[in-house]
Amino acid sequence: MIEILNPTELARAKDAGALVADILQTLKSRSAVGTNLLDIDRWAQDMIVEAGAESCYVDYEPSFGRGPFGHYICTAVNDAVLHGLPFDYTLADGDLLSLDLAVSKGGVAADSAISFVVGGSKPPESIAMISATERALSAGIAAAGPGARVGDISHAIGSVLSEAGYSINTEFGGHGIGSTMHQDPHVSNTGRPGRGYKLRPGLLLALEPWVMADTDELVTDADGWTLRSATGCRTAHSEHTIAITDDGAEILTLPR
Ligand code: MG
Ligand code: MG
Repeated sequence: MIEILNPTELARAKDAGALVADILQTLKSRSAVGTNLLDIDRWAQDMIVEAGAESCYVDYEPSFGRGPFGHYICTAVNDAVLHGLPFDYTLADGDLLSLDLAVSKGGVAADSAISFVVGGSKPPESIAMISATERALSAGIAAAGPGARVGDISHAIGSVLSEAGYSINTEFGGHGIGSTMHQDPHVSNTGRPGRGYKLRPGLLLALEPWVMADTDELVTDADGWTLRSATGCRTAHSEHTIAITDDGAEILTLPR
């Protein structure tokens, strides 16, 4: 299903997007050496509830997970990259942490992810990988607008990731979003320009480039959710929800 939002729904989407961004920035500022992933999950829960929003994750039970998820945020450390189930783990200096959060407010969902290094050390490989996903996300957003096609976004994202030296996994990518978190169209992180669904004003997309340092193969953790790199290498993930406007695209998940 592809949804085109009306102006009332778009206003709600902006509200949801700003909330997601604010929560992620707060959680980033609190994620220090010694912070437990379960603390981050509890803080996310508190902020979602306080804002009168609903978690898109806690009851989520898709075919690819061992549902329901039962937590409020995805926390992926080092070789973990997607669907990271929070567990009793204390962050250490140099850990590469990805936080992925989706909430629904007023019946509209927003979805965003950030990656960063915990503590004072800045491993160059981790910084480069995070930067590549952020640049790919910017390129994808720049390629989005009315009349552009999903393949234009995929091509823009994939070009940045490939030029940075990463191979691209095509199992998981971006997606439409609206009254529910995951909708059509699928937005692969690589593709051919001029192909696929033609974008229209009012369409919401979650774009989410992610990479693994030396592989494109995933393995599922024993927890039934967390996806890790098959080689144990580090990974990074950046995501924004955007709205297609009359003359381009607007990022909804920027901090206020
Ligand atoms: Mg997400
Ligand atoms: Mg997403």
